[in-house]
Amino acid sequence: MTASWIHALREVVGRKHVLEDAASLLAYESDALTLFRCSPAAVVLPQFTEEVVAIMRILHREKIPCAARGAGTGLSGGALVPEGGVILSMTRMNQILSVCEKSMCAIVQPGVVNLDLSKRVEPLGLRYAPDPASQTVSTLGGNVAENAGGPMCFLHGTTTNHLLGAKVVLSDGSLHDWSTQDDLDLRGFLCGSEGTLGVMVELTLRLITKPKRVVTMLAAYQDVAQACAAVAGIVAQGIRPVALEVMDQKAIQAVERSVYRSGLPQDAGAVLIAEIEDVGGHIEIEQERLEACLREYSPLRLEIAQTDRQRIAIWKGRKGAGGAMGQLAPDSYVMDGVVPRSKLAEVMAFVDKIEEEVGLPVANLFHAGDGNIHPHFAYDARDPKQCEAVEEAGAKILRKCLELGGSLSGEHGIGLEKQHLMREQFGEKEIALMERLRGVFNPENLLNPGKGLPMSRGCSEAFHRHKSKSRA
Ligand SMILES: Cc1cc2nc3c(=O)[nH]c(=O)nc-3n(C[C@H](O)[C@H](O)[C@H](O)COP(=O)(O)OP(=O)(O)OC[C@H]3O[C@@H](n4cnc5c(N)ncnc54)[C@H](O)[C@@H]3O)c2cc1C
Repeated sequence: MTASWIHALREVVGRKHVLEDAASLLAYESDALTLFRCSPAAVVLPQFTEEVVAIMRILHREKIPCAARGAGTGLSGGALVPEGGVILSMTRMNQILSVCEKSMCAIVQPGVVNLDLSKRVEPLGLRYAPDPASQTVSTLGGNVAENAGGPMCFLHGTTTNHLLGAKVVLSDGSLHDWSTQDDLDLRGFLCGSEGTLGVMVELTLRLITKPKRVVTMLAAYQDVAQACAAVAGIVAQGIRPVALEVMDQKAIQAVERSVYRSGLPQDAGAVLIAEIEDVGGHIEIEQERLEACLREYSPLRLEIAQTDRQRIAIWKGRKGAGGAMGQLAPDSYVMDGVVPRSKLAEVMAFVDKIEEEVGLPVANLFHAGDGNIHPHFAYDARDPKQCEAVEEAGAKILRKCLELGGSLSGEHGIGLEKQHLMREQFGEKEIALMERLRGVFNPENLLNPGKGLPMSRGCSEAFHRHKSKSRA
């Protein structure tokens, strides 16, 4: 017999927007970190704010745990609910509500895909700066919840620097407007809260002007250490590129064997992509300084994109690299940690050591300017031993990041993946304070339970860790 709360949800959004059959739910049992899986009891797809309010009231009355979900590209196990829970898929809330050219901002629903906003404002000479490599798919709501970064965030800052306001529905169904910044900055608090404070239903985002000119360079180096040294050198000389991205040889080769192939030099141990923008009319001077600095570190080759086509090809390789990892193994575990830029070469040497220990290939592509590393472990999720091995290896690398003065996450969030390591970065007092703050907004822990902060044992068992995939 269908539960009364399912009937109630159907009344709010219509029968076809409440999914309950096993085949439909399969797509919602994990995000892009497939180490964690848990099938929801139902998925509900609202289109309007009033529907989200009504849904949250029903779920609150029934004490049913729930989580919002954008495109499900998250890499820390964020958009999952424990058994019996409900997912609110925000993909039907995908309207750009208004664009104000004069104030350089846009009001959007949270399910708008990141790149769609930039495409929409491009004819006005504007763009939305945060550009995660998943920007063709990931949603702006998911980006805010994870405080997403991207190659261009080295100069322009991550999502938190571009969120001007938000309308949020709390777990009890109350609707709030967090758009003022002159008092306690709830807007800033929301950014990076991993969907644990409320469901975002409307966002006001800052737009920036498109640069007059852009110069993109690709330097091929002997190895990753040399590329990292060049990154530290560029920043130390006061050069301000928009992006400083590194890919190692495994990543380059995976790209070149995939549909994202873009002519990257396969003999190089690493490539460094550096891009500068013309903001104040001094791009020629910056270009000279950047080129000289890249040459100081003895590149095997240095290419300077002369046309838009060449520039797009370079970025096609970098942005497609995550997807190209499918060339290495059936599954990929993408880690995310941060170290001070000066420690990049040291942490990458440690990643090499772990790769040898674990015996599985690790490709590296990372936001080097921000010290944000992303080792990609290639493994087979059908083998529970490999699942355990990559997870343990990931924890070792994160501990190394902490030892070097870094942190557990640059942009993918804590989610389920890293919550058990939070006590290694933060003291008991800090964790208790974060729990109390979260409790103000989500007192019964019904909204996205188990994410971000250390879980109690009972709660962690509600999610299936290492449930290996069965494939035909
Ligand atoms: C190939 C690939 C490349 C990637 N590259 C990058 C990168 O360069 N930079 C980067 O930062 N990340 C990157 N990611 C990770 C991921 O794309 C980002 O974390 C992105 O912000 C997630 O957006 P999403 O819409 O898929 O959110 P989901 O995965 O659906 O959800 C992520 C979190 O947001 C919450 N959430 C979603 N919508 C709402 C809402 N409306 N209200 C409240 N909470 C909400 C969910 O509950 C969950 O906790 C990459 C992922 C992949 C697969």
